[in-house]
Amino acid sequence: MNFLRKLFGGGSTAPAKPSGKYVGGCDHISTVSNADPIDNHVCHCNVCKSVTNQQTTHVVFFKHGDLSVSNEANLNRQPFNADNPDGPLDLCTCKDCGTPIMLDDKQKRIRVLVPNLMGFDGKIDTASYHAFWDETKGYDKPNDGRPVYDSLRPEFVWPLGA
Ligand SMILES: [Zn+2]
Ligand SMILES: [Zn+2]
Repeated sequence: MNFLRKLFGGGSTAPAKPSGKYVGGCDHISTVSNADPIDNHVCHCNVCKSVTNQQTTHVVFFKHGDLSVSNEANLNRQPFNADNPDGPLDLCTCKDCGTPIMLDDKQKRIRVLVPNLMGFDGKIDTASYHAFWDETKGYDKPNDGRPVYDSLRPEFVWPLGA
């Protein structure tokens, strides 16, 4: 019966990973995009720092409609910025295992991934610039050759919401 078990996934309840250009998530929920990200930066903001416990966070934006989620009913939602619970971004985690899955924009403009925490490690290009660095950070301005801004890159345009 071994071959049957192999064929049908050994009785595991984990659904098969979907195919796509970018696939992430956990054993219970998959996120998929076939389109490239619209922004890809190293974030120096304090919200990312407190949520990820990383000094800086590699953050990727997809257009909201480009990133699909296999099992949205299995997401727990909480404000991304605990100090601004009415802000647009929800941190979505898996109800079963607690894995962070994405940040979801209530205005449906973008969906945000942190590749190294959300199942995309190594599948997404390195960031093209540094965002939200300023003199208050208490550490030196990055000098790895990538542009450094105190916000998102100036040419970034928010997609329209839905
Ligand atoms: Zn940030
Ligand atoms: Zn899970």
